[in-house]
Amino acid sequence: MNFNGVEFDTYFKNYPDDNGYFGKYGGAYIPDDLKKAMDEITDAYFTIAKSSKFIGELRRIRRDFQGRPTPISYLERLSGSLGNVQLYVKREDLNHSGAHKLNHCMGEALLAKYMGKKKVIAETGAGQHGVALATAAAYFGLECDIYMGAVDIKKQAPNVARMKILGANVIEVTHGLATLKEAVDAAFEAYTREYKDCIYCIGSVVGPHPFPMMVRDFQSVVGIEAREQFLEMTGELPDAVVACVGGGSNAAGMFAGFLNDPVDIYGVEPLGRGPKMGDHAASLTYGTEGVMHGFNSIMLKDENGEPAPVYSVASGLDYPSSGPEHAFLHDLGRVKYDVVDDEETIDAFFTLSRMEGIIPAIESSHAVAYAIKLAKQMKKGSILINLSGRGDKDMDYIIEKYGIR
Ligand SMILES: *Cc1c(COP(=O)(O)O)cnc(C)c1O
Repeated sequence: MNFNGVEFDTYFKNYPDDNGYFGKYGGAYIPDDLKKAMDEITDAYFTIAKSSKFIGELRRIRRDFQGRPTPISYLERLSGSLGNVQLYVKREDLNHSGAHKLNHCMGEALLAKYMGKKKVIAETGAGQHGVALATAAAYFGLECDIYMGAVDIKKQAPNVARMKILGANVIEVTHGLATLKEAVDAAFEAYTREYKDCIYCIGSVVGPHPFPMMVRDFQSVVGIEAREQFLEMTGELPDAVVACVGGGSNAAGMFAGFLNDPVDIYGVEPLGRGPKMGDHAASLTYGTEGVMHGFNSIMLKDENGEPAPVYSVASGLDYPSSGPEHAFLHDLGRVKYDVVDDEETIDAFFTLSRMEGIIPAIESSHAVAYAIKLAKQMKKGSILINLSGRGDKDMDYIIEKYGIR
């Protein structure tokens, strides 16, 4: 399929290019030392990770440890309440550890093991990526250093406990605002010192090349499974596919299965409290081109051109940019990026819980909220939602802040 001049039959061969660009987005804007380390990972990815031994082992792990393939569920009661559009969810909430993040963490950690590294390191904000990486490190017997802001450590006590139980070192970052940005800086500094013995496992389709490509490829299992399952269940492809976009990994994985199909694709960003800067994290909707954290993409900037403060009810979506591939697909028009706010998200959280017996993560509830709106506009057809994770982590917060609806 050709779309605005881009040939999607050969899309995965051509994007990103050899330097990690999706059109003008992507690349590796990092110091020479780190560039060397990234080149080493890129080389290993194209040799080791493409070997049949690696692929076979990862497939076995996905089946026996992660519990894949995750099912697709038809949302019978919710669809019935909305009219003639049929809604389905891909159940990444049933992936081991409760979200899609383990899909790329297992791939990254297996690559680390094959490369002879002893340790994986990463930053974490809300702690979800830290827990997924700690899970993978425990499975492979790798050391695991997780950098986390002191403020986040206080806020996310259950995830800190999980990481520690899984054997990870949680390293407290106390400078600056002591949140995600400082944790990213500290983890990059540590990586510059220690890259001979470890790899830095980035938590989404962001950061310098090769991570946007590698994380997408590891996540594409979601879209590849979903396409096959949906065809098997219904004999057709869905008319629309919907996923929430923070950094963009669950969306990139899901979309990978459908980019070359006549399927409308929607990425949903958090509008938070509204469109005023600082009240949302809708970077593709409101941002402009710029470089941060080692890659060129579309980002939200403050008056000094630095990453702007962001907010939404879902801490997993609170990132002032999105992966370069999303910026590319946005400009191309192949994927439509749109927003839902906190209120619509909380409503969808309760609706899915009450009508289908599935408690979604607040991040995933953004996609559910958007699909509900879309179903009301579409007169017929089907929508496949990527349910990126389960809501257990969010229940206390929602009850405290919003009460039972
Ligand atoms: C981290 C997280 C997200 C956001 O990350 P992406 O890279 O945009 O997918 C979405 N949903 C859940 C459940 C998460 O834990």
